[in-house]
Amino acid sequence: MIRQAKGKTPRRPPPKKPSNNQKDPVGVYCRVRPLGADDEECCIEVISNTTIQLHAPDGLKANRNGEYKETQYSFKKVFGIKTSQRELFEDVAKPLVEDLIHCKNGLLFTYGVTGSGKTHTMTGSPGQGGLLPRSLDMIFNSIGPYQAKRYVFKPDDKNGMEVQNQVDALLDRQKRDSQTTVPKTPTTRRIDPEFADMISPEEACKADGVDEDSSYSVFVSYIEIYNNYIYDLLEETPFDPIKPKWNGAGTPLRNNIEFIPPQSKILREDQNHNMYVAGCTEVEVKSTEEAFEVFWRGQKKRRIANTQLNRESSRSHSVFIVKLAQAPLDADGDNVLQDKNQVNVSQLCLVDLAGSERTSRTRAEGSRLREAGNINQSLMTLRTCIEVLRENQMCGTNKMVPYRDSKVTHLFKNYFDGEGKVRMVVCVNPKADDYEETLLVMRFAEMTQEVEVARPVDRPICGFAAGRRQRNQAFKEELTRRLEERGGPVDGEFPTVLNQLLQSFPPLPPCEISGPNDDVTLPRLIEALEKRHKIRQMMIEEYNKTANMLKSVLQEQDSNILSKENFIQEQRGKLGEKDKMIQNQKNEIDRLEKKSKMLEYKIDILQKTTNIYEEDKRSLQQELESREQRLQRELSEKRRMESRMQGMVTDAKLKWEKECERRVNAKQLEMQNKLWVKDEKLKQLKAIVTEGKTENRQPQRPSREKDKVPPKRSASPSPVPTGPPVRPLHRRSHSAGGERWVDHKPTSNVDLDTVLQPNIPNAIKVNAPNEKALSKCDKYVLTHQEVASDGEIQTKLIKGEVFKTRGGGQSVQFTDIETLKQENPVAASRKRRSSETDPDGEPMDGDWTDVETRCSVAVEMRAGSNLGPGYQHHGYPKRRKP
Ligand code: ADP
Ligand code: MG
Repeated sequence: MIRQAKGKTPRRPPPKKPSNNQKDPVGVYCRVRPLGADDEECCIEVISNTTIQLHAPDGLKANRNGEYKETQYSFKKVFGIKTSQRELFEDVAKPLVEDLIHCKNGLLFTYGVTGSGKTHTMTGSPGQGGLLPRSLDMIFNSIGPYQAKRYVFKPDDKNGMEVQNQVDALLDRQKRDSQTTVPKTPTTRRIDPEFADMISPEEACKADGVDEDSSYSVFVSYIEIYNNYIYDLLEETPFDPIKPKWNGAGTPLRNNIEFIPPQSKILREDQNHNMYVAGCTEVEVKSTEEAFEVFWRGQKKRRIANTQLNRESSRSHSVFIVKLAQAPLDADGDNVLQDKNQVNVSQLCLVDLAGSERTSRTRAEGSRLREAGNINQSLMTLRTCIEVLRENQMCGTNKMVPYRDSKVTHLFKNYFDGEGKVRMVVCVNPKADDYEETLLVMRFAEMTQEVEVARPVDRPICGFAAGRRQRNQAFKEELTRRLEERGGPVDGEFPTVLNQLLQSFPPLPPCEISGPNDDVTLPRLIEALEKRHKIRQMMIEEYNKTANMLKSVLQEQDSNILSKENFIQEQRGKLGEKDKMIQNQKNEIDRLEKKSKMLEYKIDILQKTTNIYEEDKRSLQQELESREQRLQRELSEKRRMESRMQGMVTDAKLKWEKECERRVNAKQLEMQNKLWVKDEKLKQLKAIVTEGKTENRQPQRPSREKDKVPPKRSASPSPVPTGPPVRPLHRRSHSAGGERWVDHKPTSNVDLDTVLQPNIPNAIKVNAPNEKALSKCDKYVLTHQEVASDGEIQTKLIKGEVFKTRGGGQSVQFTDIETLKQENPVAASRKRRSSETDPDGEPMDGDWTDVETRCSVAVEMRAGSNLGPGYQHHGYPKRRKP
């Protein structure tokens, strides 16, 4: 069970890489080198740490009609002339090295015209190490203690990486040791002064988060691409000093040692569609020094080849590839897990591109010119590829990117198509001569920034518990300590054990053989040795037993720890979930609290509003009540008034009814009287008619008696006849002294004190006409005063004759009116007096004062009554209307 558990490898995650949608633009940095000693005009100015400005040099300006041209270019960062190599490394390469250690690929290249500082930036010089040595240093500083033994990782020939078992790795190591004469420990090695002191120790960098439970190995390759051919700069070419002149591909070196030109390599695609140089040497390196030594070896080879083949080094691209293989330690934590699928390989490509200028800087002739064209071609392809990529990404087109048109782009294909981080340092020389080329470089660089590359994803973690390496180390230390305790302080662990064992064996007998026939010594020796052998066997068995026991106990504990760790991991996961839940709930609570606060606030406002409304309501109710009360009061008042009015109306009605009745009765009486008068007239007329026929006939009383006159009528005053009076019959006989007058002067008349006063002798003066006076006289005169239209008082004397009526009464027929005029000095006083006589304030002279009206009216005085309706106007107060 335990053994099984040990060998078992955790399941490999599905081979398909998780899809990644995140992209980052190509990081483009610009480095401006200082002007050379001979250069005078500077046409580049660093404006900010992201922008530079190019000025056209004077000569160029003159050529273009003096037009002054300034252009600005922006980058992720601009490094001025004072930028140190270390600063540049921190910004540009350090993140790429960190990525490399975390299983992510990176590509870093320098671009620019020859002499702009590409090589200075990438490689640097002693004391001023460039990006490459610094990257190597950082890698080894980070993974140093966790490196696998040499040859544990072994590259296959298909760009893959295998894990060798311990024995094979050991055998390979022994083989290497026997072949090389170089001392193993780097401390004793002599470092090439050409690249010594590239990095000072105080500038050492280290990556964070290195997985301690993995084992690492670094492999480097170094290739050169020249004229679209790939050459392996680390290939071991056999030098054959004995061989004479080479007359084929090779050329003789000056010292007659033959130089065999390197064979070009081809590019292949591995099973993961990554491009690689088939058959390229990959050297496993264990330290910065070793790695840089390998690089320098390649560099030297490159230099020799270029010299020998008369090539211009600035026209070649150099590619230094750092591959980092890493695999998890097994469960015991002492060996790399023997599983190819668990090996992760990441790589960082450091590329120093050829000069980007269009023509050769040195005079190019013949084949060199051709080469120059080709070299340009590969940079042109790089440019085209970037353009197409940018167009595809920006416009959503799907144009084919011509990676295959050149080796350089073909090799980088996977960085742009797949995933990784791509960075470019654009090197510029501010000198005037480079201006036009620099413009092209800037345009290319700006365009490159617009290309995006898929961001590499984090690698999945292996299923083993963390901290295996530490535990294993602790165990080894403990074992050593215990053994030392037992054997005392002896050098090394095994000699201690050996000594102990030797001491525990029985001593050997003297083994000096006395002669060829010595039968004693040898058998005794044999016996002793056999005894020893037996003991040894026993001890071995015991040791094995104990070891096995110990091992099983340890494994048990290991698995215990593993399960506990798993449990802890699980619990951690759960805790994380709970934490998340708590966080969510907290957020929810926060949200709710905010909401409740908001609601409280709203409630507050609503409460206030309600209060206001309630107050309003109360006051309105009060008003309503008071109005209702008023209304009630008014209503009851109205009712009271109504009932009062009702009472008054009934009173008035009753009164008026009585009055009406009375008036109707009076009218009826009047009408009956009139009727009677008419009857009487008719009778008189009849009598006249009949009288004319029978002369001197006495009027017949009986005819009158025949008329059924109600007895009441004889007693009533005689009506005034309107017709002509019957003078011959009823004319009063005149006395001897002449006529007698009734002088009627109403008391209302004004004393005018005039000289001319009407004077009638023998007249009976009355204030009001009475029957007694009328019966004694036959003439009647009324002195009537009135105000004329001119304001004067005029006196009228209305005269009439008195007749006896058949009923025994008196009647007056007016016959004449005399008008006496005079000035009225006291009109106002008369008026006042007249008003005095009328207590009601009504004028005494109404319509009845009109004489014509009075003349047409016969006055009949009733016997026994002194007043008749016709005399009302003479000053007696009018009868009040009901
Ligand atoms: P390239 O590789 O682009 O042709 P180099 O790196 O060989 O250019 O640089 C040419 C010269 O300029 C070298 O002598 C180098 O030391 C110098 N140089 C380049 N860049 C710088 C820099 N940033 N600071 C100082 N010297 C530089
Ligand atoms: Mg260079």
